[in-house]
Amino acid sequence: MTLLSTSTDQLTTLGAGLRRALDGPFADKRAAARAAFPSDNLLRDPDLSIDDAREWVLNRLIEISEAGVLATGVPQSSEDPGNIADTVVAFETLAHGDLSATIKSGVQLGLFGGAVTNLGTKWHHDTFLADISSLKLLGCYGMTELGHGSDVFSLETTITFIPETDEFEVHSETQGATKAYIGNAAKHGTMAVVFGQLLVRGRNYGVHAILVPIRDDDHTVLPGVTIGDQGHKGGLLGVDNGTMRFHRVRVPRRMLLDRYGGVTEAGEYASSIESPTKRFFTMLSTLVRGRICVSAGAGIAARRGLSIATRYALKRRQFVAPGHSEGVLLADYLIHQRRLLPLIARSYALGFAQNEVTSSLVHVMESGQASEEEKRQLQTRADGIKALTTRFANDAVQEAREACGGAGYLSENQLTGIRADVDVFATFEGDNTVLLQQVAKALLGDYAKIWGELDTAGMVQATARVFGDTVMERTSASTLVERLTATVKRQPEATTLVDRGWHAWMFTERERHSLESLARRARKAGKKFDALNQLGDHMLFVAKAHMERIVLEAFIAAIDATEPGEVREVLERLCSLYALSSIQADRGWFADHGKMSAGRGKAIGAQINALCAELRPDALSLVEGFGIPESWLGAAILED
Ligand SMILES: Cc1cc2nc3c(=O)[nH]c(=O)nc-3n(C[C@H](O)[C@H](O)[C@H](O)COP(=O)(O)OP(=O)(O)OC[C@H]3O[C@@H](n4cnc5c(N)ncnc54)[C@H](O)[C@@H]3O)c2cc1C
Repeated sequence: MTLLSTSTDQLTTLGAGLRRALDGPFADKRAAARAAFPSDNLLRDPDLSIDDAREWVLNRLIEISEAGVLATGVPQSSEDPGNIADTVVAFETLAHGDLSATIKSGVQLGLFGGAVTNLGTKWHHDTFLADISSLKLLGCYGMTELGHGSDVFSLETTITFIPETDEFEVHSETQGATKAYIGNAAKHGTMAVVFGQLLVRGRNYGVHAILVPIRDDDHTVLPGVTIGDQGHKGGLLGVDNGTMRFHRVRVPRRMLLDRYGGVTEAGEYASSIESPTKRFFTMLSTLVRGRICVSAGAGIAARRGLSIATRYALKRRQFVAPGHSEGVLLADYLIHQRRLLPLIARSYALGFAQNEVTSSLVHVMESGQASEEEKRQLQTRADGIKALTTRFANDAVQEAREACGGAGYLSENQLTGIRADVDVFATFEGDNTVLLQQVAKALLGDYAKIWGELDTAGMVQATARVFGDTVMERTSASTLVERLTATVKRQPEATTLVDRGWHAWMFTERERHSLESLARRARKAGKKFDALNQLGDHMLFVAKAHMERIVLEAFIAAIDATEPGEVREVLERLCSLYALSSIQADRGWFADHGKMSAGRGKAIGAQINALCAELRPDALSLVEGFGIPESWLGAAILED
């Protein structure tokens, strides 16, 4: 086996090739970030007290900052455009180590710094960004309230303009208006971006964000601000989450982050966006990077778990058997392969989709030429990939933990820590269920727009067009997929089970059929809550079906971009394993809707077994492709 050396580890030729393919368009940036990432002090001692864990995490961030990795790409002033791809890569690089440090960096640079960058204007940028990037000014992102988490449109905190003093008054009238779960609030933050309803001369202009100092230079909490420490949590113990309440706290007018709306010197409200709803969603859309980063971080957490379990399976023997006198390697049990390899395949699939979403983020935020449609599509895909990847990370890390048996349960092997930390990724930056509903609503929007006032006959005619023109024409692999499915759709079952055209056709059919029936049901339901409420599970199915297709198409595009050879062959097998696992999971749906015969459905299991056997010899290279040096995993069970 050929071993190649990188600046951080040694790996097989196949592993290096897979890594290059998975790193995709960000290969150079990722290699540079890995090389610069300080890896001596990567993982936190789980025995540290909460106070010590918080201090350790802050010091770790300072260390990473000094190594030049932390704020890579974050703008330093209004003159500095920043670099979006660098910020995403920096965040995901941090996810190779302590996840509290990753999330604290996300709060500081992505949320607090991101709000100042995207919602603020020149004065805010020039005054605060350099200190935010260098960690001199530590801050919070105060959006969630006790009363309003997913429904942030209804926040209760008020930001009232006081014309007499040219100030704003920030106030939490009710207990429900208390800001909750806020990172950096309990201990380290000295300033917060606070979201609340903007009231100017008696009129409510909807949710806006304002900078509010919360502690002075001596770290004493400022008058009018009440801070609570939310203490011990299910994970992320190194992040100081807390509550914040404001009692008529005054700040100067210029502290309002007024890129999308503010109060003029004459004391009048002004905004380039008339509708408060549109203004609010425009503001939120500029913060989409946070969601994409959380997804990227969860993807890395899953890869860490799967790397530990796979490397352990290649060492650990249980039960002697004929021809295996020292005992059978866990990796040689088919059932063990069935547990880990489909998850590894899905990790690759989600990684390729993540690369595509990151590329469209870069296009939307940096080109200045993105259409409204591209912006909307980015939002939908960011919501979807975050929901899929964080769900996957939770499942994969748990499976990895169990795949290591009792050893997996020891903290020294990292899996329980990763699992505890990644749990809440499913909730913050948008609860997954709510995000999937948003994905489905966005897809339904296309139908509502085109169906408009059409009668039933017109609707039927327009339906095929909506899916073909708007939903389908949206990935870089569209043309390729059209070619692959062209012949398959006439006789889908005449293909082999590893025919990519058949996979693409099944994924497309699952999405098209479920989306069209949802659209019809939604039209019938109109605006009636009870009727719409009945559509909940159907909406989640559609959102997942849509995202699974997007993920498959990203995989197809990545294979297409890979030179013929061993790496491409392995990617083909992984892609088939991903596609068949997804079809098998919805086997009942495909059968119920006449999309797959019983015989074909049964044959999928045997095909998955065959793919696992083919991939087994490459198990080590597959996890090397994840880009995590073995020494970074920090699992005692992997030491000789
Ligand atoms: C560790 C941690 C750190 C955080 N950091 C920050 C931070 O720094 N700043 C910040 O502003 N916020 C932060 N948050 C808050 C986080 O963003 C919210 O917890 C999240 O948005 C969900 O809101 P919620 O907790 O109020 O849950 P809810 O909105 O009450 O949701 C509870 C459940 O109800 C379901 N649900 C809600 N609405 C619907 C619906 N319409 N249909 C069907 N089901 C629904 C959800 O799926 C969920 O399962 C943090 C949270 C945690 C736990």
